[in-house]
Amino acid sequence: MSYIFPPQAISAVPVVDSDALYPVHRIYCVGRNYGDHVKEMGGDPKDEAPVFFSKPANAIVVDNAPVRYPQATDDLHHEVEFVVALASGGKDIANDDALDCVFGYAVGIDFTRRDLQAVAKKEGRPWDTAKGFDDSAPVSAINPVAKIGHPHNVRISLSINGELRQDARLSQMIWSVVEIISELSKFYELQAGDLIYTGTPAGVAATVVGDHVVASIETVGSLEFDVI
Ligand code: MN
Repeated sequence: MSYIFPPQAISAVPVVDSDALYPVHRIYCVGRNYGDHVKEMGGDPKDEAPVFFSKPANAIVVDNAPVRYPQATDDLHHEVEFVVALASGGKDIANDDALDCVFGYAVGIDFTRRDLQAVAKKEGRPWDTAKGFDDSAPVSAINPVAKIGHPHNVRISLSINGELRQDARLSQMIWSVVEIISELSKFYELQAGDLIYTGTPAGVAATVVGDHVVASIETVGSLEFDVI
């Protein structure tokens, strides 16, 4: 088999204490998963079912490489998120089987063109241009379950230029990792290589060129890069 042009490189994430990379198949994201963030965006946490959207696999940025400020926005927001990396999947996964699908966890940022998202929400349009663009999903090395287990009630935080902007605990998630995997698998046949960004706590705000971003989740890892 030949191709009419060389295929694009496979997107892949480093794995803690391993020479082998984690090949990314798809990126799913959960919206509105921390009550205080739902409120800051003008919603009511009690009304919300999980909201799913996706990003292209090549939206990841690894190895703390700089993030290129995207075109078509004047309001790029940071959203620090707990990232689930699947090693297997399926359809209609039962809650009891969900954690068996997880290879490991990472720290990620769901960068959002908030101005485009505001228009999409107002007009009832898809979120794609607000969410799925180049460099919109920086991610740390994946820490395997075999090393760290399944973190819960640990701190998740993000600082810009040394100023703390987001600071919460994973136990504040409205939908747990188990529930997210189970719910998502009602819509898609999940597969090895699928990453799930599980939503952001309160404190989202704009980033600008020149910012230094540090994000971390206790026991999982950290992420640090410049916006250029
Ligand atoms: Mn998000």
